[in-house]
Amino acid sequence: MPVTAPITDKTTVNAAWLVLTLAACDLDLVSVTNAPDDRAIGIMVDGVDVASGTVVDDSTYDIDAPILFLENLRSDAAGDSEVVVFTNRRPPALLDPAPWTPGRDVAKVQLSNELGLAVTVWIVKGPFDDQRARAIDACVTTSSIWNSERMGAGFSTFSIKDATGDGEADNYFDFDCSMRVDLEDDIGRDAGRINIYYVGTVDGGVGRGQACSIGSDFVAMAERTGDELLSHELGHNFDLLHINGLADFDQTNIMHNASSTRSFVTEGQLFRAHLRSGSALNDTYGARPGLPLRECAHTAANSKCPGIGKRIWADGTFPAN
Ligand SMILES: [Zn+2]
Repeated sequence: MPVTAPITDKTTVNAAWLVLTLAACDLDLVSVTNAPDDRAIGIMVDGVDVASGTVVDDSTYDIDAPILFLENLRSDAAGDSEVVVFTNRRPPALLDPAPWTPGRDVAKVQLSNELGLAVTVWIVKGPFDDQRARAIDACVTTSSIWNSERMGAGFSTFSIKDATGDGEADNYFDFDCSMRVDLEDDIGRDAGRINIYYVGTVDGGVGRGQACSIGSDFVAMAERTGDELLSHELGHNFDLLHINGLADFDQTNIMHNASSTRSFVTEGQLFRAHLRSGSALNDTYGARPGLPLRECAHTAANSKCPGIGKRIWADGTFPAN
């Protein structure tokens, strides 16, 4: 705003207010409803700046109120205009197109409630009480990461079943993905949700996990897996790939393939987890009925797809970008 120098006479005061008033009449705004209280809201905006003609692509805002005043934007010739909103405990919301005209516009974004996901955990190799405790620790850590990193999803039920007495359980103590279908047939599988199986080893390791395919509804966990590994395997269920070797990522991201410090999820990853049709959020849970899909490839970065490393908030040493 232009009022920075001391104002010493009435004429200057009036001129300053005139500038403020004209600016407020021109500015577009984003209005967000159903945001949680006391949480920052992050917004990415596409359009064309009316005054300069400059294309705006994922211009980023971090605000603490559900109303944001923007510059004055219009759609480009191809109609490209959108608003994406992120906040804690709400799924990312895409408004496409945004209602940008050369005049003043209001983009209203209604956030959905947090998605509630039911999962079933099968303890295939015991001791049951120990592995039940391990699964609960994984649930708690995953929930914590999702809450702080704005996944917008939580566990509605985390049902743990004792399969250690199943006569066929020991066929699957040393699991690899060739056994997946037989494991599901013999041990059990609850339809329409992600099923998680705690076995002995996975691919020969006691600390490993497997989703067996990208976008699956299946996770195998070995018997000494760390608490944060479940967030990684569920990331594969949500159609996310490894970020190893990409700039702006390290072992602190949930999709690093070998880490005990997984903590962060970028907004580029959240966007894909929710909007890709193959994500379990869509094709297993049907948790986003009627909401837009967008098949952004892993490393795509264009007006329709934020880069996988796009951040509204810093992730450890990686700043917002
Ligand atoms: Zn992986």
